[in-house]
Amino acid sequence: MVDFTLGEDLEALRRSVREFANDVVAPVIGDYYERHAFPYEIVRQMGKMGLFGLPFPEEYGGMGGDYFALCLAIEELARVDSSVAVTLEAGISLGAMPIYRFGTQAQKREWLPRLTSGEALAAFGLTEPGFGSDAGGTATRATLDGDEWVINGSKAFITNSGTDITALITVTAVTGTNPDGSKELSAIMVPSGTPGLSVQPGYSKVGWCASDTHELSLDNVRVPAANLLGERGRGYAQFLRTLDEGRIAFAALGVGLAQGCVDESVRYSGQRHAFGRPIRDFQAIQFKIADMEMRAHTARLAYYDAASRLVAGEEFKRQASIAKLYASECAMENAREATQVHGGYGFTNEFPVGRFYRDAKILEIGEGTSEVQRMIIARDLAA
Ligand SMILES: Cc1cc2nc3c(=O)[nH]c(=O)nc-3n(C[C@H](O)[C@H](O)[C@H](O)COP(=O)(O)OP(=O)(O)OC[C@H]3O[C@@H](n4cnc5c(N)ncnc54)[C@H](O)[C@@H]3O)c2cc1C
Repeated sequence: MVDFTLGEDLEALRRSVREFANDVVAPVIGDYYERHAFPYEIVRQMGKMGLFGLPFPEEYGGMGGDYFALCLAIEELARVDSSVAVTLEAGISLGAMPIYRFGTQAQKREWLPRLTSGEALAAFGLTEPGFGSDAGGTATRATLDGDEWVINGSKAFITNSGTDITALITVTAVTGTNPDGSKELSAIMVPSGTPGLSVQPGYSKVGWCASDTHELSLDNVRVPAANLLGERGRGYAQFLRTLDEGRIAFAALGVGLAQGCVDESVRYSGQRHAFGRPIRDFQAIQFKIADMEMRAHTARLAYYDAASRLVAGEEFKRQASIAKLYASECAMENAREATQVHGGYGFTNEFPVGRFYRDAKILEIGEGTSEVQRMIIARDLAA
């Protein structure tokens, strides 16, 4: 029999993150969002709660949990706000996790304790101004000069790359040519503040306005040869693994947003009156809310499946793409319907659904667009 119940530890985690999201994040996040300001104080408190260490072993300052626990925490945060949720999601699955998965013992000891405590953030720079989906198009180059890598190029849309607490950015770069003539890609860690690394002003974004996203330029950036992350030439395989995992966490983020739309719609439809009765009495509104709940629930089952497979050490690539694709499309649909339930007020920043509407679209684009997810699923089925 399939068991969907969460153990006591996971239920306790879910409860404490839910309380934090409702009591600490919800009252203030709208203000950060309007000011396009990074919520340092919220991130500091998330660090104190151990959220940045959730899926890492205690020897690196982690909480000894797993990826499933991380996904639950992300879902609960996104139920209230996606900027905060993606700061955690990217900080772990794009920032710290590649170091944990592919780093040497020395690299893990040097970087992970600060990252798992939330004192510092790491970022992952794959996308460039000229390409995103076509990741093999990387133009950034790194050449060895003695015992240093010299890196030149640029990266686009890099989350958590320009905060006051950003400690490093792992960038993918072409480091040579493979025997078959294809590009040899490697991942190299670039500490913040390295001369030649310029962090451009934050993007003016449609959504995720309290999350940190920058374009980066690298102009003769020199880092020690020992900053290579994992094996030389394994950069492509490493980022595929990084993105496969990250998609499950991204799906959890989508489920959180989709569920937040249900919460807000249930609340508002009980308060708002039209034609002498609360609008929740109208079947048209009830059906919208029922469909929203159906989408959030089924998308949750999809990410539970993918996360459980990952934790059990089973194949999860296709399931991760299914979960990410479905959850992001559900989030988008729920945001549209929740805004409709709120009528004109849904189009203001007075209610969270306006923020949800703006935040939902990126879920169909980041960590692989919906088209890319469909390609992955179809290829996997044909393999
Ligand atoms: C707020 C934000 C945060 C981000 N954070 C990060 C980060 O931390 N690190 C990072 O490396 N990147 C990050 N990204 C980049 C993100 O992953 C890319 O934007 C995404 O992968 C899409 O790439 P692109 O924007 O170049 O679109 P393109 O690849 O140019 O795609 C444009 C359109 O063409 C479609 N398309 C492309 N190829 C095909 C094909 N073969 N078949 C069918 N359709 C196709 C796409 O699906 C899309 O609809 C972030 C982006 C944003 C907006």
